[in-house]
Amino acid sequence: MNTAEFDFSFLEEGFSAKDIVEQKINESSMTDDRDAFYVCDLGDVLKKHLRWARALPRVSPFYAVKCNDSQAVLMTLASLGTGFDCASKTEIQLVQSLGVDPSRIIYANPCKQVSQIKYASTHGVQMMTFDSEMELMKVARCHNNAKLVLRIATDDSKAVCRLSIKFGAQLKACRGLLEKAKELGLDVIGVSFHVGSGCTDSAAFKQAIADARCVFDMGLVLGFCMNLLDIGGGFPGSEDADIKFEEITAVINPALDKYFPVDSGVRIIAEPGRFYVASAYTLVVNIIAKKVLIDDDSASDGKGRVIDRSLMYYVNDGVYGSFNCILYDHAHCLPTLHKKPKPDEAMYRCSIWGPTCDGLDRIVEQCNLPDMHVGDWLLFENMGAYTVAASSTFNGFQKPDIHYVISRPAWQHVQQIYAQGLPVPAESCTLDVPACCGREKNLEIPSKSPQAHVV
Ligand SMILES: *Cc1c(COP(=O)(O)O)cnc(C)c1O
Repeated sequence: MNTAEFDFSFLEEGFSAKDIVEQKINESSMTDDRDAFYVCDLGDVLKKHLRWARALPRVSPFYAVKCNDSQAVLMTLASLGTGFDCASKTEIQLVQSLGVDPSRIIYANPCKQVSQIKYASTHGVQMMTFDSEMELMKVARCHNNAKLVLRIATDDSKAVCRLSIKFGAQLKACRGLLEKAKELGLDVIGVSFHVGSGCTDSAAFKQAIADARCVFDMGLVLGFCMNLLDIGGGFPGSEDADIKFEEITAVINPALDKYFPVDSGVRIIAEPGRFYVASAYTLVVNIIAKKVLIDDDSASDGKGRVIDRSLMYYVNDGVYGSFNCILYDHAHCLPTLHKKPKPDEAMYRCSIWGPTCDGLDRIVEQCNLPDMHVGDWLLFENMGAYTVAASSTFNGFQKPDIHYVISRPAWQHVQQIYAQGLPVPAESCTLDVPACCGREKNLEIPSKSPQAHVV
């Protein structure tokens, strides 16, 4: 892949992604199309990366591709030197097509199809997670040199999207799994966990890190070279989350220093998804239809006005499209107004609906909005995570175009980081076992620099 196939432009000096939203709205308003569209600020992805490096200096991010697999995002992250968490053959293919070295990929799906394990094997992807005996037997048959990572269950009761109901071995099962791996001649290199997506409880990380330590010790006793801790994902992606990223990292860092101190030589990675992409994307939708309902119980709005109606707005993206996050990701999406309401403008009880013929296709059950018209625009911010990645074209409604922007200073910063190359992973073993820990070869930077059409 030499050039990317996405609509990309540089922000002129003094312009922000918000100005591009405005410009695109103006352009579209001159036509009859008024299709929904996204503006994605790749500079925001860079900002997140720098914020990550500041807050978690010991932890290398392996971006979770499932969260948003847009080429522009993946290319930006590849240039920044992150690794990637892939869960399928197609995700591995996608990331490798950008020139990412297989040592920068973790196949972080504990339950894999045999043919896909074979694919990973023939394509040099060695790190992979497991949480059952059956998986170990599959890997022993299909992969010659897998570096296995034992995924443990966590207390994810306070996460928005629970994952440990599906994945992760119980602590009491871990010794048996490690013994089985030994028996099969497999190489277990560490432990991973995921506290659940949209985690609101920093204590879950602390407990999981302590649990991982226990499993490390079991592995060391059995003679494994345990040198990789993977603290998974679950980090918030926008400022309106219930917990701030830095509140979580303030708990993670001391736990890492306690259980996995720097001189333990353990390499620490994570699999952030939401964190990197949520706030980079703004979705802009157009009101395509509107209904006025006369309320039986009219009420005063506190300014002496009688509000005797509620409004239904229909917009051109919905739950079968970008707003699948409402169903799958338990998201609560609220619009930002495009036109600022006048200070004394009456507000109405409103619901917002998607364009399909299904009654399920409701974006907002109730919110207060002014009286708007067909053809007006609404903005939804923080729409980068678990949105475009899982949207469909059900009922024939197409996915919105995405306009990628970045400022020149941000672009130069990305190029600089790219030119510096990637850090060598700190790798060693606490066990003095010969041939256990040959130092890994230096990680390679992608063979091709990301390029994009400049429009
Ligand atoms: C979904 C997923 C992630 C990403 O989770 P976020 O909450 O978006 O950070 C990371 N690792 C695994 C194994 C996942 O399934």
